[in-house]
Amino acid sequence: MREDLVIRRPQGLYCPPGDFYIDPWRAVDRAIITHAHADHARIGHRHYLASAAGEQVIRTRLGEINLQTLAYGETIEHNGVQISLHPAGHVLGSVQVRLQWRDAVWVVSGDYKLDADPTCDPFEPVACDTFITESTFGLPVYRWPSPATVSQQINAWWADNASNNRASVLYAYSLGKGQRVLASIDTSIGPIITHGSLNALNDVYRAAGVNLPATQTASDVQAADRQRALVLAPPAAAGSSWMRRFGQTSDAMASGWMRVRGARRRRGVDRGFVMSDHADWPSLLRAIDATGASRVIVTHGNTAVLIRWLQEQGLDAQAFETDYGHEGDAHDE
Ligand SMILES: [Zn+2]
Ligand SMILES: [Zn+2]
Repeated sequence: MREDLVIRRPQGLYCPPGDFYIDPWRAVDRAIITHAHADHARIGHRHYLASAAGEQVIRTRLGEINLQTLAYGETIEHNGVQISLHPAGHVLGSVQVRLQWRDAVWVVSGDYKLDADPTCDPFEPVACDTFITESTFGLPVYRWPSPATVSQQINAWWADNASNNRASVLYAYSLGKGQRVLASIDTSIGPIITHGSLNALNDVYRAAGVNLPATQTASDVQAADRQRALVLAPPAAAGSSWMRRFGQTSDAMASGWMRVRGARRRRGVDRGFVMSDHADWPSLLRAIDATGASRVIVTHGNTAVLIRWLQEQGLDAQAFETDYGHEGDAHDE
């Protein structure tokens, strides 16, 4: 019988022959990190392996760590397991992990998307026998509009607010979504103000060659000009004293959850823009199919519907219960 290359342990996803973990949620000796979002990259591991493209993002998030990096596609061997990292298209430097041991090949996706994103390298399908996939938006209702459509909607909303002397407050996660919004907006509409939690990451993206427009802090911008500004802030900044300086505002949220009407109401924002750094339902099916895998293990959120769909296609499908994502809206997307 074949040995599984990845199993679930209380600490996280574990590779028995290699004796290392992938995105573990408890402190371990050796961890491969797919990307720097908090549910995947945690402090406390003794040794980290991540992509060279994601190095500065992970260091910005985790501080002083013992980090080894690999270029995309570069292979190293650890305890007889060949390890390589391949772009996942989720955020800057995010990767899928390919493991080969004897004649078995497994790929752990981390978080991924197939939509075009000027701020990170595109998802690369990697052939494997077993594919461990996320399923944050693993329901048929989740289908994303084209990125160009969403940026037009954001620009139109901002321009309308600016002409009515209202600041446009857009909530977006500070790693990935924030930079993606910045890279796709019309900078002629007004000044762009970013919350402090985005600035260090914006600089990391710029240093990596990602073309982001100039941004300012709130105090850089005269009060009168703030009424025409786009204010980019993480959802956690809602209701903060920092937010009160903008006077009359319209607020909005950029998130895959905005696809569902109730989610916008729960957030209490005026507008919802459907922009996600995760695969939507059609992309999940397309990505899984492209791997050629006969066995699929599903992590994150909505696993049951996707598993049933895959089983109906004749695939061997099951779930791993993980600590990623958790409570719908709380997840980075
Ligand atoms: Zn993520
Ligand atoms: Zn995740």
